[in-house]
Amino acid sequence: MSESVNNREPLLDISGLEVHFETRRGIARAVNEVDLTLYKGERFGLVGESGSGKTTMILALLRMIKTPGFIAGGKAVFDDGTDLLALNAEQVRQTRLKRVAMVPQGAMNSLNPVIRIGEQMMLTMREHGEEGERDELMARVVGLLEKVGLKPEAASLYPHELSGGMKQRACIAQAICLNPQLILADEPTSALDVVVQRQIMQTLRQLQIGLDATVLLVGHDMGLMAQFAERVGIMYGGKLVEVGTVSDIFRNPQHPYTQLLISSIPSFETRGDFKGIPGVALSLLDPPSGCLFHPRCPKATDACAQREPTLKEVSPGQWASCLLHEEEHDATAS
Ligand code: SF4
Repeated sequence: MSESVNNREPLLDISGLEVHFETRRGIARAVNEVDLTLYKGERFGLVGESGSGKTTMILALLRMIKTPGFIAGGKAVFDDGTDLLALNAEQVRQTRLKRVAMVPQGAMNSLNPVIRIGEQMMLTMREHGEEGERDELMARVVGLLEKVGLKPEAASLYPHELSGGMKQRACIAQAICLNPQLILADEPTSALDVVVQRQIMQTLRQLQIGLDATVLLVGHDMGLMAQFAERVGIMYGGKLVEVGTVSDIFRNPQHPYTQLLISSIPSFETRGDFKGIPGVALSLLDPPSGCLFHPRCPKATDACAQREPTLKEVSPGQWASCLLHEEEHDATAS
């Protein structure tokens, strides 16, 4: 999946990514053979239910998978040939913040509660090799805080003195302090109220455009995705089941799971008539045969329990992993 998107060049080519967790009951394949190309300067949204593998995927790209989890295979290759998954510990440290940075889900848990915001940002910069006098670094910190909409005085405050939204802005400032090419944002606004959520996402978008960085946003709020992302990927059971532009995914979803996700979004027209997705999320320790979605899929046929579909391009730039499309694809190709 590496054709250019809107004439943009690929930034990171992820192929065959596998992340497993070893449990007493066996191996859970949390990320299962994921292929995805991220392009320079794009905003990509990754959506799925809890346990679909989206957060695990970005933790793998940051090399932050902890035991009993491990990266069982695959590559994540930058445009200069650097494979993020093959770096040693020192190379990983050098890559973080300079090339790949993360905006975490829980701002409070990622800020040190006993160090003032400005100090911790300076410490982070120094830990990642930035040199310079204290005044020089502090001036950079203040500039970064202003970029994310915080006043310079925020530098001298402790995390508990900031509101939830301000803390999240401080985390964003920290993430962009070394101008990363790729920003991984894990549900960065999930703990915030709707108004603050929109403001933070707007700030993230302005920064992304200003830095010409690529943002991979993980979340489950389809409304937020529709507003923020240019392309969207849908994950189910550790697999990427559909990828397309926001307009493809919302107006013309091709995978039955995506279709159900879209139809479950509440709207004014369907007020009071909420539709869920039938069945329960699959067990990664005991996944179904064939297509992982077949026990819940309203369009499943006998073949779906036997054969595993693969991602196929169903229209230019839109990919879906479903046997219904595979048959069409094969017929068109022959
Ligand atoms: Fe549904 Fe079959 Fe397509 Fe899977 S392969 S999504 S079960 S129709």
